[in-house]
Amino acid sequence: MAAPPLRYAGPMRALVLSDVHANIVALDAVLAAAPSVDEVWQLGDIVGYGPEPDAVVDRLRGLGAVGVRGNHDLAAIGGIDIDSFNVDARRAMEWTRTAIGDETRAWLAALPELLVRGDWTLVHGSPRDPVWEYVTSTPVARAAIADLETPFGLHGHTHIPIGYLEEGGVLGTMSPSSGSLLELGGRRALLNPGSVGQPRDGIPAVSWMVVDTDAGTASWHRTSYDIASVQAAMEALHLPPRLVERLAYGL
Ligand code: ZN
Repeated sequence: MAAPPLRYAGPMRALVLSDVHANIVALDAVLAAAPSVDEVWQLGDIVGYGPEPDAVVDRLRGLGAVGVRGNHDLAAIGGIDIDSFNVDARRAMEWTRTAIGDETRAWLAALPELLVRGDWTLVHGSPRDPVWEYVTSTPVARAAIADLETPFGLHGHTHIPIGYLEEGGVLGTMSPSSGSLLELGGRRALLNPGSVGQPRDGIPAVSWMVVDTDAGTASWHRTSYDIASVQAAMEALHLPPRLVERLAYGL
């Protein structure tokens, strides 16, 4: 009799990062603050906006991070045209395309749009449109959870930390703050860790998550970092002033 297929049990604990956006100072602040984990999961938009795309990819590669591509990653390798980007995003992306090295380009090009790790599905946008769809309302979240082929999903793209929880057809929403601990229980969930490199919920501190797959918990965390040094690096590269300024406001 053939052996049953091996089921990937998943790690005990994963550090979940999204929308790092070429901000190595923010990423290193998370890594200094995070507990030890078995895996690093990243949810896309590794590059774009920020000043150090190669350094961020190099760091994630060194950590053995697994994850998915976002719209900015796809744009950086020429996979989409950037006419639909707003003017600041487009200018930053034009710089990013010239700045990244061959190793970065190859690493980004190898990322899938959707990745399953045990009971968890990782996407940048949503399960039905992994690169582009913004989950910003409960109807879209409800559809996204229904599309998941695993009990739990992780997404980014909006740069806003949030949790959508579904049980018996009823959808609930939680707005986590730093230290919020979620016990998943029997519920299905779609969770957003917020953004590492460009938070947009009015709090400039880096936003990140830890998922414990054995305990069935997720926790959100905020960590401050040296924003001024990132702003100085962006100014030196003549990246758009609005992108420089927004880091200080978290918007
Ligand atoms: Zn993003």
